[in-house]
Amino acid sequence: MFKVNENYLNLRGSYLFSNIAKKVAAFTEANPDKEIIRLGIGDVTRPLTPTIINAINKATDEMAHEETFRGYAPDLGYDFLRNAIAEHDYKARGCNIEPDEIFVSDGAKSDSGNIQEIFSVDNKIAVCDPVYPVYVDSNVMAGRTGTFNEATEQWSNVVYMPSTAENGFVPALPEGDAPDIIYLCLPNNPTGTTLKKEELQKWVDYANEHKSVIIFDAAYEAYISEIDIPHSIYECKGAETCAIELRSFSKNAGFTGVRLGFTVVPKALKSADGHALHPLWARRHGTKFNGAPYIQQRAGEAVYSAEGQKEIKGLVAYYMENAKMICEGLEAAGFTVYGGVNAPYIWMKTPDNMSSWDFFDYLLKEVNVVGTPGSGFGPSGEGYFRLTAFGKHENTKAAIERIKSIKL
Ligand SMILES: *Cc1c(COP(=O)(O)O)cnc(C)c1O
Repeated sequence: MFKVNENYLNLRGSYLFSNIAKKVAAFTEANPDKEIIRLGIGDVTRPLTPTIINAINKATDEMAHEETFRGYAPDLGYDFLRNAIAEHDYKARGCNIEPDEIFVSDGAKSDSGNIQEIFSVDNKIAVCDPVYPVYVDSNVMAGRTGTFNEATEQWSNVVYMPSTAENGFVPALPEGDAPDIIYLCLPNNPTGTTLKKEELQKWVDYANEHKSVIIFDAAYEAYISEIDIPHSIYECKGAETCAIELRSFSKNAGFTGVRLGFTVVPKALKSADGHALHPLWARRHGTKFNGAPYIQQRAGEAVYSAEGQKEIKGLVAYYMENAKMICEGLEAAGFTVYGGVNAPYIWMKTPDNMSSWDFFDYLLKEVNVVGTPGSGFGPSGEGYFRLTAFGKHENTKAAIERIKSIKL
């Protein structure tokens, strides 16, 4: 007689994006003649670039010949990719990260969900609020979050760090007992905001002082346009002893359907009682993961070629032109907007203190535009709304014209 893992029964509601999909489906059924524009989901729309396609085709071709066929990849990743990552993402920025501290994977979502496995269930996590939902849900699955308070919409054993306009979307360092595991996503999804190097340094110093670990999600690193914003947490002094970094090829190179990412676990990162995390994560990879596919890793390598770099800059520029159009359009219409400068997300204040879901319904009904309610990312997201820059220029432009036309 089997039983299920009861932690899974504690998961809250259905996932934000399935709620949105249901509402949109119901609207479309009732209004089949209306054309909806989606600025909601965080998925790219531009095709893979020529250099990437060539690398994929070449690697696929190799698979067809006995001499060049490849079976299982090394579980931690091929050296050609780990070397390219270490060189371009770390050495070039003055970070002391070696190829064997880089663990290649099928993407940052799985790594961000799985990384908590190597920590004690007794560890207390801290997250920004609003937050990418994977961090909390994966800890709920692990049984680390305590009980859920319906009134506050918070877990008893999670430290929430509100990030709102009042604090410039920069949460204060936790007061009182230090959390053990601190999740930071910078540039941030959903708020699109980020931290300057000296501000991030304070978090690194805090973590080292309290023997906490920072799980740093840098999936949007390629969107940073301002100077003085670190692309990696290892640009901060002492981060090798307190931080794990998650990276992805999804948002910079358009690999959401290709699947490739990596996690950096420095060898110097140890628990207070002296256990290094590196061998634990290596063991976890070896036992539960059979390596990212050869073809994908060759595609990843191509991202770091001179042509590949030029092309992905083009992709980012395309989306950031949308971001600019959204920010300028909404500001001109009198809305208050944040983000959109170092990230493909625009975080807007809902007008007239409408709730996030009321504004969602209003936009859908009045102008047939779909965005993401801020409250879906956490209680402090209430009263905000997320738009993404991942659409096509024409659609983005049309959506902004429609939003500008509303009379509140
Ligand atoms: C999109 C995204 C990722 C990337 O996930 P992949 O699994 O690599 O596609 C990671 N973190 C955040 C916050 C994201 O928004």
